[in-house]
Amino acid sequence: MVEEGERIPLTLYDWDPKGGTISMVFQEVGKTTRLLAKMAAGDRILNLVGPLGLPSHVDRFGRVVCIGGGVGIAAIFPIARAMKLAGNEVISIIGARTADLLILEGEMRSVSDRLIVTTDDGSKGRKGFVTDALRDLLEGGLRADRVVAVGPAVMMKFVSETTRPYGIKTIVSLNSIMLDATGMCGVCRVSVGGRTKFTCVDGPEFDGHEVDFDLLLDRLNQYVEEERRIAAADC
Ligand code: NAD
Repeated sequence: MVEEGERIPLTLYDWDPKGGTISMVFQEVGKTTRLLAKMAAGDRILNLVGPLGLPSHVDRFGRVVCIGGGVGIAAIFPIARAMKLAGNEVISIIGARTADLLILEGEMRSVSDRLIVTTDDGSKGRKGFVTDALRDLLEGGLRADRVVAVGPAVMMKFVSETTRPYGIKTIVSLNSIMLDATGMCGVCRVSVGGRTKFTCVDGPEFDGHEVDFDLLLDRLNQYVEEERRIAAADC
């Protein structure tokens, strides 16, 4: 049983209430995700808490553009699926640095009326960022009723900047550092519309046009040096 690790927030990608299982996708980026990756079938972790925060707002909006970047594709998948089930036309854009890092393409295709794939290096789909594909769509006259984006903070910042001139409601799923995940510690605080919000209980989804992304990006970099030291010590 793994008993020593940090508390980390992970987003579910799928679940089966009857079978009692949940599915998550994570990338090995630090001490705890490395510990998780070493686990074998049948191993146990000490505690798993959830679901936390507020559920995604799913409704019949009309045409919804769902955007997933990197590991964030795992989190946009259940949202895109729910949007489709609610009767929306779903246009999805998923992007990764390179073809090898692209996940859940088949799953995303199965819940989307149209799927656009991008890679930063052009090894699959359109070369460029997800925001390039989004800009093409909007400049081409596509009308969207809502955009939902999950991925790196910088991606969500630029998705929000891309939709702002068009006045399209844009929802982003924030990934600030979390600790207790109950609204007590304040580590995950973000500024939305000039007011302090806790991502763990008030989010993770917020209006991207209201989020202070520069503050979020600063706070995400707060412990980079400590993380580097721990990773080096573990090697
Ligand atoms: P990454 O750095 O490989 O980027 C993935 C894609 O995002 C790129 O291919 C590109 O299309 C887009 N992107 C990156 N930088 C951009 C920029 N400057 N402008 C426009 N688009 C840009 O992503 P990764 O390493 O897989 O990281 C995934 C991120 O998603 C992590 O930061 C993780 O915390 C976050 N995440 C959030 C949730 C959530 O629920 N909030 C869930 C899973 C993952």
